[in-house]
This record gives sequence, C-alpha cells and structure tokens, in this order.
Amino acid sequence: MFDRLQEPASDKIIALMAEYRADPRAQKLDLGVGVYRDESGATPIMGAVRAAGARLQDSETTKAYTGLAGDPAFLQAISRLVLGDSVPLDRTAAAAAPGGTGALHQAFALIRSAAPDCTLWLPDPTWPNHLSLIAHQGLTHATYRYFDAATGAVDMAGLMEDLQQAAPGDVVLLHGCCHNPTGADPMPSEWDEIAAMLRARQLIPLVDLAYQGFGDGIEADASAVRMLASTLDEVLIAASGSKSFGLYRDRVGALLAVARDPAEAERTGKVLTALNRVTYSFPPDHGARLVQTVLDDPALRADWEEELGRMRLRILALREALAAELRRLTNSDRFDFLLRHRGMFSRLPAEPAQVARLREEHGIYMTGDGRINIAGLGEAAVPLLARAIVETGL
Ligand code: PMP
Repeated sequence: MFDRLQEPASDKIIALMAEYRADPRAQKLDLGVGVYRDESGATPIMGAVRAAGARLQDSETTKAYTGLAGDPAFLQAISRLVLGDSVPLDRTAAAAAPGGTGALHQAFALIRSAAPDCTLWLPDPTWPNHLSLIAHQGLTHATYRYFDAATGAVDMAGLMEDLQQAAPGDVVLLHGCCHNPTGADPMPSEWDEIAAMLRARQLIPLVDLAYQGFGDGIEADASAVRMLASTLDEVLIAASGSKSFGLYRDRVGALLAVARDPAEAERTGKVLTALNRVTYSFPPDHGARLVQTVLDDPALRADWEEELGRMRLRILALREALAAELRRLTNSDRFDFLLRHRGMFSRLPAEPAQVARLREEHGIYMTGDGRINIAGLGEAAVPLLARAIVETGL
C-alpha cells in the first residue's frame, strides 16, 4: 500500500531551519522558528522547571499509568492558571494532551463527534497547522479577515463582517493572546464586541492559548479567555505549556471545556477522557507534573513568574529598540506597529520576493509571509535588521 501514499508537502518552517543551518555566512540571523531565545541565542530550561525536575527525580516513586484524562492535580493547576476564578471549576472539564497541538487535535475530535457538519472559522492568517489539523479530521473550515496590513492592527470591521456569515453552532477559532503569525491582538473593548457577537449569533469559541505570559503578563494574557468563559455558555480552550514553561519537547498541553452547567461539564469530561483513550490512551505525564509542581509550590511559582516576566520584558525591549532604529532610519513612524504587537511575533509588510532578498543579500531568515520572531534577535542585531529592512524597501 505504501506506493499509493502521496508525499506530503514539506513543512516550510522546518525547511527554513535546515536552510539556515546550511548557510555558511558568519553574520546570519534566524528569525524563523517560533521558540524563545535569550540574548545568547539559547532556549534555556527555566530555573523553576529545572528545580521541579530535580525534586521529581528524588520523590517520584512510580511510572505506572496515571488517569486517562491526565493527573488531576495538573488539570486543576492548569485550569486555574488559564481560567483564574472566572468560572466555577465544576463548570469545566479538562484533559491533558501532548502539547497545544494535541489539545487542538482533541478539540477538533470533540467537535467532529458533536457537530461534524459545522464550519470552523479561522483567522486569516493563522498558525498553518490549524488548517492541517482540521483537514486531517475531515472538518470544514472558512476564514475570517483578521489583519489589516496597512495599520498592522486587527481588522475588526472585517472580522465582524465575515463572522456574520457563520451559522449558529459554528466554531470560531481565536488566539487568546500573542496572535501567531501577526502579533496583533484585539484590544479589551474589541474582545467585548467579539464576545457579544459570539453570544448573539450562538457561535462557540475555540481559544488557542499558546503564549500565556509573553504578551502583557500571565494574568493579563488570560483576561480575554476568562471574559469569554464568564460571559458565554460554552468555550473550548487549547492550552500549551511549550512556551510558557519552555517545555517544548516534553509536550505539555490541556484541552479545557467550559460548559453550561456542572452536569454538562461532567459529561463533556467523560467524552474528553474517551477521546484520549482512542487517541493515545494515557497522555504524557512527566512535563505535566513539572508544570503542576511549579504552579503549586509558592517559591517555584514565584521564580517561574519572575523568569517569564523577564523573558516578556526582553521581547518588549527588543520591540522598542527595533522600532526606534526604524524610526531613525526612515524618519517616520511606519514601523511603530512593532510596539503595539505582542508576543514573540510580528508580521512585517514584506512581499515574498523581499523575504527572499533579506535571506539572500543579508542572511536574515524569516517565514515567507514576513513573520519575524522578535525573540530570535539579539540586541546587537537590531541595527543590522533595521538597515536590511530599509534597504529592501519594506
Ligand atoms: N498554537 C499556536 C498558535 C502555536 O504557535 C503553537 C506552537 N507553534 C501551538 C499552538 C502548539 O504548540 P505545541 O504543540 O508545541 O504546544
């Protein structure tokens, strides 16, 4: 049967990483892949996570299976981290998953079992894997306008107009904070407008929360999802521990479902558990336990919050430095959207040919849509990037 398999299109980001590695130039800059980097270009293990690992190493007595939905203490801790006390926990169901991707996969599986004919509305643009995951499960999607390239802000008018086409019961995917790939998030008042529209049109939000703590802070970054949870009857949330805890390869995530009432939450929880059973049986536990240990220990938690805060502020400082340099070179505030964007990414107004020139002439690597990972910049590289942007005519 293997001869009948079609070769999948190669993943563009993975291909870009390989191209960067093969580039012999000494002065080159990788702004492609979406991982946090410190000033030296490393993606460090966070101090509290390392300490939790050491503690676990000594105290763990078994590697026997845990619950099918994952360790209950982890589920409680991550639910609180995301939802705060916006909803009583008896209105929520949760299941651990391998990363945010696993949580999204399970969200789509849940949607397929409850509403196989609904349409999933995705922002244009979005993280490309959303489209692949949806297609893989045979679900239908449509896109809504999201980004105004002229201003670098959210195209609220376009978003509201396009979602008028959605039918009651359709699902709207939203990035909870730090939109990937644009960096543009709705303002709080715009989130309120979105919530009111979802309620009026009976649309169900699926919130992808992969960067909590990278925008305006751990609590602030959860405020949109908490507002949705407290004002709507049903909300799905795919949370990822990859970035917020630096646990990329350990695959930590959870799918949270906020239901109308405790009875529906309980039934939904049973469905999530059954979906885990047929997908991977027990979800990975080690990374989840590290996260739970950090969140539930006051000293480790304070340390984690402090370190994540420093990472966030480093990104903001780089945004400021890049915007200032571009203001100086262009004598304009054209690039000030960099200051308004949040999270690791910003989308530059670059045509594919300009992205190619930046790579070929300057050794600057970014994804084909002009997305740059701000965290991939060192302070010393800011003038280099700014000059290349101007020379390339962006
Ligand atoms: N959602 C978005 C928007 C992302 O950018 C990512 C990671 N690139 C994920 C989900 C999933 O991350 P992971 O599966 O590594 O937790």
